[in-house]
Amino acid sequence: MTLDLYVDGRWTASASAERIDVVDPTSEERIGSVPAGAADDVDTAVAAARRAFGQWSQTAPSTRAEFVSRLADELERRQDEITDIVVAEVGTPRRVARWAQVGLGIVDLREAVTAAKDFPWEEPLRNSLIVREPVGVIGCITPWNYPLHQITAKIGAALVTGCTVVVKASEVAPFTARALAEAVDAVGIPAGVFNLVHGYGPIVGEAIAVHPDIDMVSFTGSNSVGKRVLELAAGTVKRVSVELGGKSAAVLLDDLSDEEFATAVPHTVRACYMNGGQSCNAQTRLVVPRSRLAEAEELAAKAVAAYAPGDPTDGDTKLGPMVTAAQRERVLDYIRAGVEAGAKLVAGSVDAPARTGFFVEPTVFSEVDPDSTIAQEEIFGPVLSIIAYDTPEQAVEIANGTIFGIAGAVWSGDPERAKSVARRLRATQIEVNGGKFNGAAPFGGFKQSGHGREGGAFGLEEFVEIKSLQL
Ligand code: NAD
Repeated sequence: MTLDLYVDGRWTASASAERIDVVDPTSEERIGSVPAGAADDVDTAVAAARRAFGQWSQTAPSTRAEFVSRLADELERRQDEITDIVVAEVGTPRRVARWAQVGLGIVDLREAVTAAKDFPWEEPLRNSLIVREPVGVIGCITPWNYPLHQITAKIGAALVTGCTVVVKASEVAPFTARALAEAVDAVGIPAGVFNLVHGYGPIVGEAIAVHPDIDMVSFTGSNSVGKRVLELAAGTVKRVSVELGGKSAAVLLDDLSDEEFATAVPHTVRACYMNGGQSCNAQTRLVVPRSRLAEAEELAAKAVAAYAPGDPTDGDTKLGPMVTAAQRERVLDYIRAGVEAGAKLVAGSVDAPARTGFFVEPTVFSEVDPDSTIAQEEIFGPVLSIIAYDTPEQAVEIANGTIFGIAGAVWSGDPERAKSVARRLRATQIEVNGGKFNGAAPFGGFKQSGHGREGGAFGLEEFVEIKSLQL
């Protein structure tokens, strides 16, 4: 009997004997398994989280933040080892995985700790005292693409606000979550505050969504599953935050110098291909003035040369495999759809490289119709679509012309003009002239990219109920 679940401060066995194999996408070999958990596992974990909530919710925010801070320290201590786990189960190139996978998870926790210090737990309003209290027991359902960060972005904020959590990690990449649970255990977070269950979405995920003793679900994943979770959660009128897909655009305005243009294009290629294009905020559409289309194609093709698919454990590799065979097929289908729709293939191939591993060639399409499938749907692979525009107004329309709104970028020779266009984009995180990522800034979706925000104080706000004492 394997003790794979972390419930009530102990490693415990699942109620289900069925197992799910975990496969290394580079070698295509099985690297282990986790239980295909049962609804009973969720019941046990929720009961533990409910019991722990009583004490944890009454613990001082500074003490809760101290535990989360120690958890960040412990992850930092184990950063190399956890990086290896992510590389093995997701296939992220090691040089990227260390900071973008594990480093980001640590940043999430540290930002939650910082935000807790200045958070308005209580504040006067005329004759009222406004009090922010934890929502309760949170069900966290997370995807495989950033298997640590997707969990820490939720639990850092949830734990400092006094909530307790039941985490269902992705069955595709569950070992990073196990390492996180080991770290929780090592730093002595009280029993029941953090619980980890494994299993398939339709069983374990749905048991979380409908559970009467879970107060809120924080979901990150695909749009189809997000909608299902929203429907199921409606039965108990739970609060739900959903972080879903994206189709982000980088808009290059018509006033860029040659040098600026030559910076913006490879920057966008990088922002598209990060983690093999398997990022919800990937900049998958490059929107350029029609007069500069040929220049954009040439620069993109040149940038792509650095992304030869390779072994993610090799320090030089920038593009690893897709996470699963199914994901590779999905991406190849989209590349075929692009060719069939008449888009110009500037780089890449409709065929997978002839080698072991779930690889696809880094792909760039040009002359892409902004309404075509490859320009509208989330591909979740290294596929960039270059789209031409005739007027800046049209550029904004194209950028806003999908159901998604998670991220984007604007480049202009005039920073004020860039900001004014950035304000018009219906998406949450917009890079202006290559502006750097900020872990304290809000992350989340406009439109069908979801609702709710993660990051810093914005993340904490998701997990509090606001009430007032009339004095
Ligand atoms: P997914 O929707 O298939 O799975 C996400 C999680 O939901 C997994 O843990 C899965 O087991 C669970 N699940 C599956 N079916 C379920 C059901 N019926 N009920 C409850 N839970 C269920 O997504 P994925 O393939 O793991 O991740 C890729 C998707 O996640 C992409 O669409 C991507 O854009 C999105 N994503 C969004 C963000 C964001 O912040 N907006 C971040 C990362 C990934």
